[in-house]
Amino acid sequence: MSREICLVGRPQGFPGEELFELVETPIPEPGEGQLVVRNAYFSVDPYMRPRMNDTRSYVAPYTLGEAMTGGAVGRVAASRHPQYAEGDWVLHSLGWREWALSDGSGMRRIDAGAAPVSTALGVLGMPGFTAYYGLFELGRPVEGETVFVSGAAGAVGSAAGQMAKIAGCRVIGSAGSAEKLAWLAELGFDGAFDYHEQPAREGLRELAPDGIDVYFDNVGGEHLEAAIGALRNYGRIVACGSVARYNDAEPAPGPSNVFMVVTKRLRMQGYIITDHYDRFREFSERASEWVRDGRLRYRETVIDGIEQAPAAFLGLFRGENVGKMLVKVGPDAAEV
Ligand code: NDP
Repeated sequence: MSREICLVGRPQGFPGEELFELVETPIPEPGEGQLVVRNAYFSVDPYMRPRMNDTRSYVAPYTLGEAMTGGAVGRVAASRHPQYAEGDWVLHSLGWREWALSDGSGMRRIDAGAAPVSTALGVLGMPGFTAYYGLFELGRPVEGETVFVSGAAGAVGSAAGQMAKIAGCRVIGSAGSAEKLAWLAELGFDGAFDYHEQPAREGLRELAPDGIDVYFDNVGGEHLEAAIGALRNYGRIVACGSVARYNDAEPAPGPSNVFMVVTKRLRMQGYIITDHYDRFREFSERASEWVRDGRLRYRETVIDGIEQAPAAFLGLFRGENVGKMLVKVGPDAAEV
């Protein structure tokens, strides 16, 4: 049998684990033009939280009673698809399940010899690409400038901060624990503060007394307000995400100082990374090289077993991950 996790209710505020149900299904058989994948890892991501609400957004809400979809990597176990053979490693978007039946749409082969397959969901996959596109295309960092990254010890943030170092910038981060700050120091961040210990405004005043030029925003809320206050004229805000807001039952008031966007001539731009996959190959080549030469380092928090997936997912909103949060549900390439 295979197991999958279905969404069975809509949350109000912070979700509970009772909204998810572990369901057993027979391991699928491929029909003509189909293949079956045994997943090794699937990804849990903050963007999945807004998709649990029944509201229209840039992507459709999850359907009640169906398995949670999202990024996953696995090994082709059986194939009647012309482009995939048994033993191939693939990335797909069928999400929270042990075995997946696919017609190949939205699927890509990955080179299991080039890097650990899990990195296709993290530093060399969507989160790394989100950091790359947002920082370089929207943040436009210039050597010698100061870049501030919130959520800096997460999958996107840790990559964005290191890429800003590669661009020759001074980099400040914020994160939620002493362990995370220690890791940011290892990664070469020039300074970091714990936003539970001091307000972001104070942290920025101490670590960037002359202000910042780019703010890479993963968090929103108070961090965004503090960053608007700290930005210098002609600064840029990369509006990547607002993880501090995703569990709000009611929309919270925005930053009180948005008029400074005018007075300081700031540029703020949001983006959805799926619009930009024409740049993925460029990212992949550059990031793979940075990983190989040690300039782009990563960590993964791997939670074992599909039954742990709801806890792993909700752990994202309690800061329980360092680097990319993954759920392991089958053998890795190193184990087969
Ligand atoms: P992370 O690996 O960063 O995990 C989430 C982290 O958010 C946690 O580890 C936690 O770290 C932090 N966090 C949780 N709650 C709060 C809070 N209330 N205030 C401040 N920090 C909080 O996730 P990702 O790297 O996958 O995603 C980071 C951001 O990027 C998210 O906002 C996500 O939605 C966005 N994103 C946007 C994309 C796009 O296309 N625009 C694509 C992918 C991601 P801590 O201990 O520091 O609190």
